[in-house]
Amino acid sequence: MEDALIGQELGELTALAAALEEPAYRARQIYRGLYRERLSGIDRISTLPRKLRETLERDFTSGLPAVEKRFDAADGTARYLLRLADGKSIEAVFIPEAARDTLCISTQVGCPVDCRFCLTAAMGLERNLTCGEIVAQALTLARLHALEARERGLNIVMMGMGEPLLNLDAVMKATRLLADPQGVAISQRRMTVSTAGIASRIEEFARHDVRAKLAVSLNASNEEQRLRLMPITKKYRLGELLEVCRNYPLRPWEWLMFEYVLLKGVNDSDRDARDVTRLLANIKCKVNLIPFNPGPGIDFETPAAARVEAFHKIVMAAMPCFVRQPRGRDIFAACGQLKRTAQPS
Ligand code: SAH
Repeated sequence: MEDALIGQELGELTALAAALEEPAYRARQIYRGLYRERLSGIDRISTLPRKLRETLERDFTSGLPAVEKRFDAADGTARYLLRLADGKSIEAVFIPEAARDTLCISTQVGCPVDCRFCLTAAMGLERNLTCGEIVAQALTLARLHALEARERGLNIVMMGMGEPLLNLDAVMKATRLLADPQGVAISQRRMTVSTAGIASRIEEFARHDVRAKLAVSLNASNEEQRLRLMPITKKYRLGELLEVCRNYPLRPWEWLMFEYVLLKGVNDSDRDARDVTRLLANIKCKVNLIPFNPGPGIDFETPAAARVEAFHKIVMAAMPCFVRQPRGRDIFAACGQLKRTAQPS
């Protein structure tokens, strides 16, 4: 997969041009064509002479995935099944909202973290995605939905398949490429990385100057409950995770985000809500409540709307708190439903 152009920074493309005995501005033309103009292939970079395009096409690939299937939900959400060079497939989701659009992209094929309520967990980990494969998802969806032309905000959330902090190098390089004003130009303030709580990697993540906002999947109101829902808590205890969060070096404009999947009768009581506010006291944070999205073989239920509202009210009294509306549930595009399903349901 070394032969993909997407995923290479300008410096790498410049070295590549030099190796081909081409002037450095050719690298800038390639960079612009792939990242800024989001062209659909090397042959579309019309600023390059035809002969160079042919050489490049012979020795490299663009790195764009093949769009294998697209599922359209009633609410405008579109879920994509994308095929990678080695035949494996991943999912990415386009989510239109009133004031902006959001792209939800994957960071791994499958996921090694075994959260009990998540469909992707059942796949296990097949492999990490390369930086190029992460960036190429965003480029592909942006092109298919002509996102630049819409003149609306564009957000990227790395909340698709996989645990981003277990593929940290690729995620950080992808973030730099996506944020580059000369290229894709999506501000780091408009990107979010969500983690199941790999405490040791959160510190490492924070050492990077260019980084997305951080969201942490809390999902439980106490350690014992979290152990049952997210067995990874055995490795990264809740206390340790919250300690790392308290020490997280937030930038002045930034809030830490905590996600909380609401599971009927499991973690959705008033008492759970009060405990959550106690756990997160003294952290500059927002809480995002996600009513459970069902999936085959997953033995949890979605709380009634009134229960979600009651929980929301209690947390909101202590800190900013939002309910994430399920998007594209009818096509299995919502949080926790990504499992390379070829059928809509
Ligand atoms: N691995 C990362 C990112 C992917 S999951 C993480 O764990 O944060 C994105 C969010 O969806 C997480 O907060 C996760 O807890 C939540 N989620 C997983 N399965 C869900 C389901 N069935 N219903 C609702 N949310 C779910």
